[in-house]
Amino acid sequence: MKLKRFCAKDFRNIEACDIEFSDGVNLLYGKNAQGKTNAVEGIYVFSRGKSFRGREDSELIRFGCEGFRIYIEYEEKDRKNSLEYCLYGKERQRKKNGYRLNKVTEMIGSFKSVLFYPDDLRLVKGGPEERRNFLNVAISQSYPSYMKIYSDYKKALENRNCVLKFIGKGFPVSREELDSWSEIMAEYASHIYLMREEYIELLSYYSSKIMNEISAGKENLSVSHECDIEVGLKDRLAIKEAYINRFNKERDREISAGVTLFGPHRDDILIKINDRDARLYASQGQQRSVVLSFKLAEGEVIKEMSGEYPVFLFDDVLSELDDTRRRYVLEGAKDKQFIITSCEPEELLGYTSNEIDVFGGKYVSSHR
Ligand code: ATP
Ligand code: MG
Repeated sequence: MKLKRFCAKDFRNIEACDIEFSDGVNLLYGKNAQGKTNAVEGIYVFSRGKSFRGREDSELIRFGCEGFRIYIEYEEKDRKNSLEYCLYGKERQRKKNGYRLNKVTEMIGSFKSVLFYPDDLRLVKGGPEERRNFLNVAISQSYPSYMKIYSDYKKALENRNCVLKFIGKGFPVSREELDSWSEIMAEYASHIYLMREEYIELLSYYSSKIMNEISAGKENLSVSHECDIEVGLKDRLAIKEAYINRFNKERDREISAGVTLFGPHRDDILIKINDRDARLYASQGQQRSVVLSFKLAEGEVIKEMSGEYPVFLFDDVLSELDDTRRRYVLEGAKDKQFIITSCEPEELLGYTSNEIDVFGGKYVSSHR
């Protein structure tokens, strides 16, 4: 996957831009608050379906304007594709190769990229929700149906929670109604479980290999699925059954809590370095290494599943890495495509194929 072009109109501080990208390392450099992250944000909207910062897409509209338009051209297996997203007032339009897409979930999975930005450094020691978000976004790049299933699961969860609350308060809601929501949730949960199991297995394989390389064999990383039913099951119906059994067994506890206490919305990733729980014991440097290994492994998994590397978007993280790790990233970036933002371009000296000067929402490129 190669990003060829990013165009934007009235997006954040960008009045209008048309940026071309080359293979290898593209550097966006400039002082603070010039529009480096804004460009990365615009590109990444096409992978994730929404911005990675801010809540509402309306925040992306340039101050004082009516709406924005962003557009990318990218190559997938040498075939040219385009994606477009416009928001004007309440009117939202997404298009792939000029054809309108009805839902955001139809866009996710087309343009594959991996984002690494400073907030990701909380991945290891942050709460389980951060690791689940990481998993959800990463999996959706390789399994186009994942986001739709996960959002259907979350809707069923809300309904089931309502039923649990009603029963707890003594409202006349039948147990059959609860059982039917349990069945629906278990059905979605079984699909999510299988996709997560497969994904985590691949993530574990590649990230431990990378961690080994960047720590010169000193740090042994292992990653596994932490979940409310037994891990390692392969048969979907058995998985569904296991969730239903769990719900039935804990029915009274859930009724008194008024919420669903089990299921994929509570999963976590167990991360171990040299057999110790990294969530509790990892040092700052080890956390950085784990996250870097995860991000590069995400790319390897996409390559294994789709046959092509995604585009790597590294926003302001190179300066967080020490010399060894930085060189490891840049050496490996030569035969892929990286878009890296930095206030300190010297860090990338000798590695860039395209340097883009960013100043006040304008982008001036100098191909090398
Ligand atoms: P840093 O090196 O500090 O990370 P940056 O170049 O990545 O800087 P951006 O995050 O891209 O900076 O932001 C550039 C500018 O865009 C900021 O001054 C920000 O206030 C401005 N900005 C953010 N949202 C909007 C908006 N909706 N309309 C206009 N300007 C905006
Ligand atoms: Mg920035």
